Amino acid sequence: MIDARTQLVGLIGWPVEHSLSPVMHNAAFAELKMNWCYVPLPVPPHEVATALAGLAALGFRGANVTIPHKRSVLGVLSSVSPQARALGAANTLVIEKHDRKAIRGENTDAAGFSAAIAAAGFSAAGSKALIVGAGGAARAAIYALIEGKAETVTVLSRRVAKAREVVDWFTVTRQSSTRLRAAGLNAESLIAHAADADLLVNATPVGMWPAVEGSIWPEGNAVPSHLTVFDLVYNPDRTRLLQQAASCGARGISGLEMLVQQGARSFFIWTNRQAPIESMRRACKQQLMHEAGRMG
Ligand code: NAP
Repeated sequence: MIDARTQLVGLIGWPVEHSLSPVMHNAAFAELKMNWCYVPLPVPPHEVATALAGLAALGFRGANVTIPHKRSVLGVLSSVSPQARALGAANTLVIEKHDRKAIRGENTDAAGFSAAIAAAGFSAAGSKALIVGAGGAARAAIYALIEGKAETVTVLSRRVAKAREVVDWFTVTRQSSTRLRAAGLNAESLIAHAADADLLVNATPVGMWPAVEGSIWPEGNAVPSHLTVFDLVYNPDRTRLLQQAASCGARGISGLEMLVQQGARSFFIWTNRQAPIESMRRACKQQLMHEAGRMG
């Protein structure tokens, strides 16, 4: 029951209607019988600073941040964790207990990525990774793979300049043994690079609901069976790309696992309690099935 003692967290984004985070976190609070509540908070871009000040004034404990605010919030936070700074984006905010006007930014996306590949039995160390896309999700994946000591990370983007920009950012900001490369994205380059890779990551929205028949992998071509294919898209849970991988005997990882793992880390940051990951995963899957049923 929501009462005067309910602790509040929420999601700041624009839009936020389709996010799974409210059902995921509220399922976790229910499982642990915690008097907490997670609310969606639609905030247009020009209202971000006002919304953050309001969060603190209303006694919120923290918030998640999603598109399009992950980068822009950095400018209005009191402090930013080294990881969020390195990624140039925050997805988790904490209202500091000692000073309710102070808001700290963290990033749990890269740790969520690492946990998801580890749970699938994939070891980043010494691996060759191929990332398709050069946006925020790609940055989290690149950071995680550098931290995990991958041998090479190749970023393919339809605008090669964007892939170069991301590679240059990490080359300058993270001194590491991982070799970073950028190249243009087309069917031929994807197939050629994948032949030599251990991990293929889809960090584009291709295949996301409602365009569920879309895939970055060209139809009619076999996915190399030695590849681990990680589709960061989580709606649907089993994307066209993951279906193509499975039909060729390649191992697949759903973006839902990264969503749940990053959520579990945000949950711990706010509550100092281990998240009930299985309940969170189940709640997300149920919500996706419910939405799929509703949409026909
Ligand atoms: P973003 O910052 O907008 O970046 C999207 C990237 O995909 C850009 O490089 C974009 O290239 C490329 N792209 C878009 N449409 C494409 C197409 N039709 N063909 C080829 N490339 C295309 O978005 P993001 O935040 O990185 O999110 C990407 C995906 O990851 C989304 O589906 C999101 O839901 C998912 N995601 C999942 C998690 C998780 O926890 N599982 C977390 C974050 C994001 P251009 O610049 O050329 O448009």
